[in-house]
Amino acid sequence: MAAMQVPQPPIQHERRCPWCGSDDTRHVQRGYTGPTDEVDQYFTCNACGRVTYELIAKTAREMRLGRFQAGGVWKDATNQTRYHVSRVLKVGINEYLIYLKPITGSVLTSSTVDD
Ligand SMILES: [Zn+2]
Repeated sequence: MAAMQVPQPPIQHERRCPWCGSDDTRHVQRGYTGPTDEVDQYFTCNACGRVTYELIAKTAREMRLGRFQAGGVWKDATNQTRYHVSRVLKVGINEYLIYLKPITGSVLTSSTVDD
């Protein structure tokens, strides 16, 4: 049986880059059972090249090392951006999902990164 062409949903949830305001973004879904093995969910911006994480997966060990907790701040050193940790969700024996909200207006410059 041939696959039917399913029309695209009329309303797509657009994701606007919080760092530069462009809506030219590409969303990467967390690969629960799909072809990807992405454990994080994020979107990339074609305009500024930054990655915006929506949620990231951490192991119990990473949780202890990173001191993730709701209300805290997570810094993405690679993209020099920061996020509020809005929620921490235990999803398995050894896995946690960290829900993130970008902290805009505070994009770090290379001179202010204090790693
Ligand atoms: Zn951008």
